[in-house]
Amino acid sequence: MQRAASIQLDSGALRHNLEVARGLAPEVAMWPVIKAEGYGHGLDWAAQSLGEVADGLAVSAVEEAEVLRRSGFDGPLLVLQGGRDSAGLRRCAELALQPAVHAPAQLEALDAASVVLPEVWIKLNTGMNRLGFAPAQADAVERALRAAGHGGRGLHWMTHMACADDPADDHNAAQLSAFATAVAGRSGARSLANSASLFAGWGRGVGHGADEAFRARPGIMLYGCHPASVPAETPPEGPDADLRPVMTVQAPIIGIQHPAPGDGVGYGATWTAHGGERIGIVAMGYADGYPRHAPTGTPVRVRGQLCPLVGRVSMDMLAVDLSDVPEAAVGDLATLWGEGLPVERVARAAGTIGYELLTRVAGRLRPA
Ligand SMILES: *Cc1c(COP(=O)(O)O)cnc(C)c1O
Repeated sequence: MQRAASIQLDSGALRHNLEVARGLAPEVAMWPVIKAEGYGHGLDWAAQSLGEVADGLAVSAVEEAEVLRRSGFDGPLLVLQGGRDSAGLRRCAELALQPAVHAPAQLEALDAASVVLPEVWIKLNTGMNRLGFAPAQADAVERALRAAGHGGRGLHWMTHMACADDPADDHNAAQLSAFATAVAGRSGARSLANSASLFAGWGRGVGHGADEAFRARPGIMLYGCHPASVPAETPPEGPDADLRPVMTVQAPIIGIQHPAPGDGVGYGATWTAHGGERIGIVAMGYADGYPRHAPTGTPVRVRGQLCPLVGRVSMDMLAVDLSDVPEAAVGDLATLWGEGLPVERVARAAGTIGYELLTRVAGRLRPA
């Protein structure tokens, strides 16, 4: 009997999902995003699984890039937040990283670092209002970088979409056109598409010339989670059967209870039995990364069937109503999400998004 919660990772599914992304945007280079420990799957694992089939990889910070270089990844690496100071920018040069430059302070730090960066991505703020220079500053930033000798192999242009998961949102058209206008006539690759933008058909932006080269930055879809919010009636196969789950989280049933009518289950006795239910106790809790706020009714998969969670999630246990699966027994593995139960479905029930569930899985669950 397996005693603890654990996760299985499927690198074939990860590579399959990259092919799905390529299918959505042929002729666009794919730079998978593996920040936040590869969206919870492990930074090195994600790099090893994708490194040879991707055009480049993207992380948030120089520290993550350092880990990857130490592990032997020597392919192109984009650092989405760039270097924070001169020391960070010197590391970018030493490790052949491609930092994004998004703020005036980074230009000053770059001067002070006295290094030359062959490839830099200039980040424009087209409406997300998180990181980036105003489009009107594109010219000044490009001149400053070129004057200091940066970008010999390429000065690239990137922006990030705020509302791509709802393609009908008006912000999208405004951002897409601001980006196309700002980069028109400039050399270097363009990059705007996250997963949601690829599904919306914006891998090459909107309104760009046919000769402009594009790079996409898909994250969540590669891990088998659809970026759009998922309707409640979504079938268990997921909103897009083409995406395959990469992470499957499982934990054994370690006990069975037969509460009497009116008995409560778990802390606060927030769920009470009608009588006749079989309640399975699963060795997975919020310390393992299961959302504590998942309410009664959140699906858990046992013997191929979806069973409702009941009562409050504990630190390393949760309860499931097994009444519809009479053959379920102690020692059975319950699936919390993954194969047969898309993470976005669990996320929706718990009032969050798949991104949060995947990135919060406790590192100790991952295979060594
Ligand atoms: C995280 C991130 C992505 C990937 O987004 P997904 O929604 O996971 O596809 C792309 N670009 C930037 C700048 C990001 O921060």
